[in-house]
Amino acid sequence: MTDFAQAVKQQVDIVKIVESYIRLRKAGAQNYSGLCPFHKEKSPSFSVHAVRQFFHCFGCGVSGDVFTFVGKIENVSFPEAVRIVAQKAGIPLPKREFSSPEEAAEAQLRRKLLDLHEAAASWFEEQLRGPEGAVAREYLAGRGLTPEGIKTFRIGYAPDSFHELRDRLSGMADTETLRQSGLFSSKEQGDGTMGPLYDRFRKRVMFPISNESGRVIAFTARTLETGEKAGPKYINSPETPLYSKGQVLFNLDKAKLAIRQAEFALLVEGQMDCISVFLRGLPNVIATSGTAFTEHQVALLRRHTSQVAVNFDPDAAGANAAEKSIALLTEEGFAIKIVTLDDGLDPDRFIRERGVEAYKQAIRGARRQADYLIERARQMFPGASAEQKVKAMNYLLPHIRRIPEKLARDQFALDAAQKLGIDSAVLREELRQAALKRRERVESRVTALTEVERVLLRALAVTDPEFEASRRAASQAVQQQATYFEHLGSYPAMQLLAARGSADPMEVVADPAQRALLAEALLHETAPPEKKQVLGAVQEVEERWIEGRQRALRAQIAEAERFGDIGQVAALSREKMDLDRALRELQRPPEMEL
Ligand SMILES: [Zn+2]
Repeated sequence: MTDFAQAVKQQVDIVKIVESYIRLRKAGAQNYSGLCPFHKEKSPSFSVHAVRQFFHCFGCGVSGDVFTFVGKIENVSFPEAVRIVAQKAGIPLPKREFSSPEEAAEAQLRRKLLDLHEAAASWFEEQLRGPEGAVAREYLAGRGLTPEGIKTFRIGYAPDSFHELRDRLSGMADTETLRQSGLFSSKEQGDGTMGPLYDRFRKRVMFPISNESGRVIAFTARTLETGEKAGPKYINSPETPLYSKGQVLFNLDKAKLAIRQAEFALLVEGQMDCISVFLRGLPNVIATSGTAFTEHQVALLRRHTSQVAVNFDPDAAGANAAEKSIALLTEEGFAIKIVTLDDGLDPDRFIRERGVEAYKQAIRGARRQADYLIERARQMFPGASAEQKVKAMNYLLPHIRRIPEKLARDQFALDAAQKLGIDSAVLREELRQAALKRRERVESRVTALTEVERVLLRALAVTDPEFEASRRAASQAVQQQATYFEHLGSYPAMQLLAARGSADPMEVVADPAQRALLAEALLHETAPPEKKQVLGAVQEVEERWIEGRQRALRAQIAEAERFGDIGQVAALSREKMDLDRALRELQRPPEMEL
């Protein structure tokens, strides 16, 4: 680890860094727990130790320090993880921070593009306030947006010009960088080269799209023209080094805190719906921007919740994307409810016409995914004929198979059979099979640690000078009487810890399985063990070893007697008597030592 990484690690709090990705609850004096972001689970087995500054998951076994966590969750290399952690903690980066010139160039390009987007967003906001923005202001007011709401979402206006934004930004970056920003277009020339840049967005209302930290990385632009000249109603920024459509959830930057507090996310289809719902007092709302959910978006969302209420437009156009999103979320273990609004209204109109209370009521009354799908199957295949029932069931089967939990699959299959009135044994069997199919991918592990091992590991990992006597007692026992300890599952970790000097316990144990055992012992501790407790544990290990050896000797002696091997019987008996004496000595009450 570099000096810089070491310094960063000393200054940051792993609890705060982890909390910027997932929800944590205080679970003990020194530790916090939450749902593991690295495997699917319903009850929390992911822990963070506030004092020792490491995390560990009892479900999938991952553990490590703050850099391991960020590296894994952001899927980046160690130097990149160090940089992210430093940035989150506001620690200035040293000059030499990149492992390669390409990496440095890429980071510089991204910074430049962020600056360009920030400047563009400010300029669009300015234009909305100006005389040319009048028609856009009128449109926004018509959609019920107040000036404060416009400011919150930084909504702007791109005037009817091919060069104003270009002229405005051309001093900030070279042509190639401007081209890569996606804010401009150009036409291919006769000789195959690209022509001059011109403004991509013209005469449109501009909705900025931000990344999770709230920086503008792209725009959605809505036309104000009608008729043939108008072009598509919405256009988006193209894919750029900053922006990839399937990797962003609209409004997640503003909604994430509220999502954690409400313990669910409200998912709507369009950005306008999202803005409207958010501004009227439901802050835990996000949007997919009209496309089906991607795995990347699921991963983004899972850091904050595993429950989603879906409120898509009821029209047929959105139904396909909605169904795909629901399928993916189900597969990824999310609990889903479906909100349906009266009279086929979209969230924006519903909330404007009926008010926010009625909307909240609709969300509370949202149907479970299974009920919703069964109802949909009945609507799509009405009637009581056997043929319709088979069709309805075939529609439901893939949905049932997708659900990770067996219990939920069983319940779904049972409900489906009942509500569709399926009495055929063959169909019922098929439903039962669908419920049986899927298996949990991650099975929770059973601990391999005994109570004495816990005590010894905790003593060996002592960093508090007050408990130095405990550490010394444990480390002497492990080093000087190795025979007694060798058979323990955590012996490799004990050996390393006994010889660690002043190094950080979590760092000297590199083997993941051994580190997991250590993490487990430390996460359950309240305070380090007292010396007396350590000596008790050492004695217990020794006694158990002796008792095990005695049992083996008794069997061997019996065996030797059966063969009439007198010499062997005598030798084994002597060894056994020595052990008997050693055990008596171990078990002698302390008073007799005086
Ligand atoms: Zn895990």
